[in-house]
Amino acid sequence: MKTALVWFKTDLRLHDNETLVKAISHSDSIIPVYCFDESHFETTDFGFKKTGSFRAQFLMESLINLDSNLRAIGSGLVIVTGKPEIEIPKLVKQYKATKVFAKREVCYEEKQTELLVQTELFKVRCELETYSTSTLYHAEDLPFSIKDIPEVFTNFRKKIEKEAVIRTVFEAPTHIESPEIKSLNLPSLQALNLKFTPIDKRAAIRFKGGESAAIKRLNHYFYKSKCISNYKETRNQMVGADYSSKFSAWLAMGCISPRFIYQELKKYETQFEANDSTYWLVFELLWRDYFRFMMKKHQQQYFLLNGIQTPKLESKAINLELLQKWTEGKTGNDFIDANMIELKLTGFMSNRGRQNVASYFCNELELDWRYGAAYFEQQLIDYDVCSNWGNWAYIAGVGNDPRGNRYFNVEKQADDYDKKRVYRNLWLSV
Ligand code: FAD
Repeated sequence: MKTALVWFKTDLRLHDNETLVKAISHSDSIIPVYCFDESHFETTDFGFKKTGSFRAQFLMESLINLDSNLRAIGSGLVIVTGKPEIEIPKLVKQYKATKVFAKREVCYEEKQTELLVQTELFKVRCELETYSTSTLYHAEDLPFSIKDIPEVFTNFRKKIEKEAVIRTVFEAPTHIESPEIKSLNLPSLQALNLKFTPIDKRAAIRFKGGESAAIKRLNHYFYKSKCISNYKETRNQMVGADYSSKFSAWLAMGCISPRFIYQELKKYETQFEANDSTYWLVFELLWRDYFRFMMKKHQQQYFLLNGIQTPKLESKAINLELLQKWTEGKTGNDFIDANMIELKLTGFMSNRGRQNVASYFCNELELDWRYGAAYFEQQLIDYDVCSNWGNWAYIAGVGNDPRGNRYFNVEKQADDYDKKRVYRNLWLSV
């Protein structure tokens, strides 16, 4: 009797989950498990929480949905809290498992945890088997080795579009053999040292965690509203649910896979239309892939003041007063403040907003960009380590931007994207 653990992390879904599929095909019995890693709820050296309450709430909803989808096919989700390198081997012993299947990590801290778990599992004669499950293009299908990935996005995109193929989606399993799994037992937000914060009613969208809500959102954005057909024209707007896909939070938590989105997009194109907008969503998903592969290439360098560039920024003490004005939306610049208030009260901000507040942080306030990235890490529902730190480094001029420093003229941007002040009026009114 071969028993295996499936260690879910940011892959909280049944569809297109190679880790789960491989575990089922190689084992007689499966124990799905999620570990609340205590380090994910600590305060970092930048003074912000690694996970704020908006994302924690989204995570809880995602786990409730995963558990219920697992139960519908004969299984369930075991929850543990602590250090994965202690908790996962403990469960291995308890269930006499011989293998642990998990998503393969790319980022430095996550990779360190993976290695620690692997070392501890080795001591109890258990193997860790990992799979890459978060990108559109599989790392093994790239037309270059990770170390040779072009540093310029356009070069990366052109070569990949010409020479690589996107793998087909893994179907969701219809049955899982598991021993009886007790009903879901999630920690409270208080136990994670967080306070429940209701999301402001003005939020662009109510992000509900979980695979079922993710698929519902896709069906809305593609088939019901057909908003995808105008995505390229609307994606830079800032007010409302449908100017952009809002897939980010579900993608970040792995409730939906980019390959599944791609597959549905191709169906949509066959059924309705293929145009610049349908292409542009794939273009944006390629940015997401790009930051992942770049993170794999440059590892912890992405988290340093000078990023992946030769040193040019000098380390200086953070001006806490300016930092606080920025986080609170009290800089005095109404466009920046409106965006920062939206982030503070909802955990979301448009891409246009993110570019502007990040540029303002680096160029006008001249603060250490990593504090801005760390605040986003705490605050964003859709926080994704590669997309966040990659975009911040890019705007700070220490990442992959061939043009060096990406300066946004905030006044002009406000005029171009919020001419009638609809966005500012929405967020600056109390
Ligand atoms: P859409 O416009 O509908 O795009 C579809 C998908 O493409 C997104 O869901 C996302 O997965 C991907 N995507 C789009 N733009 C980018 C981009 N510039 N980089 C990487 N992927 C992209 N995105 C995150 O998912 N998590 C983050 O933590 C994050 N931090 C950011 C920090 C800064 C400073 C900036 C400038 C951008 C950041 N982004 C981040 C990228 C982008 O702003 C969000 O993905 C997007 O606004 C989410 O809304 P959407 O899903 O409606 O996007």
